[in-house]
Amino acid sequence: MNSPYETVFEQILPRVKRPGRYVGGEMGQIDKDPASVSCRFCLVFPDLYEVGLSNYGLQILYFLLNERTDTYCERAYAVAPDMEAQLRAHGVPLLSHETHTPLKDFDVVGFGLQSELTYINVLQVLDLGGIPILSAEREDADPLIIAGGHCAFNPEPLAQFVDAFGIGDGEDVIVDIRDTWTESRGLPRRERLERLARIEGAYVPALYSVVEENGWLIPQGPRIVKRNVADLNEAFFPTMQIIPWTQTVHDRISIEVMRGCTQGCRFCQAGMITRPIRERTPEKVLEIARELARNTGIEEMSLLSLSTADHKGAVPMARAVRDEVGRPMRVNVSLPSSRADAFNVELSSMVGDERKGGITLAPEAGSDRLRRVINKYLTEEDIINATRAAAKGGHKHVKLYFMAGLPTETDQDMREMAQLIDRCERAGQEVGGRRFGIHVGISGLVPKSHTPFQWSAQLVGPELMRRVRLVRDNTPRRIKVGWADSDERTVEGILSRGDRRAGDLLLRTYHKGARLDAWSEYLRLDLWEEAAAEMGLNIAAYLGERDINHRLPWWHIDAGVTHRFLRSEWLKAVNEKVVRDCREGCLACNACDITGVEMQFGDVKMAPLREPVIRAWKRQKEREKSLCP
Ligand code: SF4
Repeated sequence: MNSPYETVFEQILPRVKRPGRYVGGEMGQIDKDPASVSCRFCLVFPDLYEVGLSNYGLQILYFLLNERTDTYCERAYAVAPDMEAQLRAHGVPLLSHETHTPLKDFDVVGFGLQSELTYINVLQVLDLGGIPILSAEREDADPLIIAGGHCAFNPEPLAQFVDAFGIGDGEDVIVDIRDTWTESRGLPRRERLERLARIEGAYVPALYSVVEENGWLIPQGPRIVKRNVADLNEAFFPTMQIIPWTQTVHDRISIEVMRGCTQGCRFCQAGMITRPIRERTPEKVLEIARELARNTGIEEMSLLSLSTADHKGAVPMARAVRDEVGRPMRVNVSLPSSRADAFNVELSSMVGDERKGGITLAPEAGSDRLRRVINKYLTEEDIINATRAAAKGGHKHVKLYFMAGLPTETDQDMREMAQLIDRCERAGQEVGGRRFGIHVGISGLVPKSHTPFQWSAQLVGPELMRRVRLVRDNTPRRIKVGWADSDERTVEGILSRGDRRAGDLLLRTYHKGARLDAWSEYLRLDLWEEAAAEMGLNIAAYLGERDINHRLPWWHIDAGVTHRFLRSEWLKAVNEKVVRDCREGCLACNACDITGVEMQFGDVKMAPLREPVIRAWKRQKEREKSLCP
């Protein structure tokens, strides 16, 4: 490495905690001669390294861009306060991991946005990287700042900091942005941005003015339709991943087996914005799993999606990966947290090895009534049977994950949650003995854009905590009930449904010293409140109910699902009406039509199902379930 910062960087490292976060040079890192490429790209995950490295979306884009000989893609992450202090004290900018190049010297810097709680770190990275924080202050020589990921579906809080957002699946849009930016080199920055705006799925906020409508700043301009990968089997997936020196949040390799979800949970943004469903074939998954295990030597592998057990070939796929990769290569294969029904649990138990610890089930709501509101069509009996299946499958404990503050929620729902927890423990112990245990996690609902709950009020503060306490006080003391920090949910709530004024608040709070909001030890809600008070911004309005007849700040982003569909789902929620899985019959959300992408089941593509084929589909599903041991 020939970075002029090398010597001073080496002096800094012993003075910070966990220096392994910053050194780079991991197995799997791509090394190229920067002088040999026409575009230098830096992908940034705006959180600490141990969180960012686990993000498989960024790993996909990293290897995808580096496949090209004309592009060198490097990485950077947010830094902890001790590192930030050292960098500032020594006049060292934030550097990329690969070549220790300052971020300001790249052509393109791209952020992956997975949580609104990382927005504050986007500003830190720009600031430390020597790049003007405000898009309007960047000059021709400054890098292009882009962002994508699920949070980009409401881009407005970051609109003044990001030059262009890629909306939807990133694989194609990132390459188009890279090419357009490189080909327009030499032109004035404004003209280059105008060219980017012509790319399908690219949103350039500087080209949109805003007007105030009913108290919200609403962007004016053409709607941006999200990009969707049409064929997941053809989509790029790396057969190598970066293996960290230090422990990360998820020390495992993730293989994406399916994109999209058809369950229709009304709180779930990922389930709405990634429609329609697209599956990789079991053969393709096995091929990737084999290569990854061989190339990385990893010991943990996850078959990842929003609901892996819904994959049409879930059983043969899981069995093949277990038998041909897991057992012979000593890799522990797992599924992510499961829907709380027995089939999901049996599938998880089948695929895992002998080291069975716990399994996470997500009933989400405490009562059957409230599960109808959120369209999680599981009964109490389903959840108890799932717990029993987990104990039978050898799991030593089950973690039940719930939300509080759901629309129409009452104290009775919270008491029923406590009863359900108790019944699950008894059922598990009937099979698994007295050592079988239940752990409980509760967090507050954060209503997200592009979901039926986008109009709902968000519960925060003392009332949220009172409801959580109600569950805890009605649950046997031996069962541990944990809950997520209410302050985190407040900040997430302000930003997730914010307009451009939320960006002003973000900037002001950043200058007050806020950092790493996703970490409870660093989060300072008082700084957010102080900044809001100075601006005269009413936080309660950002967390409050929205009028279903008004345009929302993200109206210009077309996620595929129509306003009409979301609105009808919101009304069904309030009336406790459940809708079916959309593979069993189209619900006319319109995602297939708007994106022009069909549902994909392995190597079969399918238009939305109409009535005559629905019954056959159901019969097939039952047959598949019976294949699971
Ligand atoms: S258009 Fe129909 S089939 Fe396609 S994702 Fe929406 S509800 Fe499902």
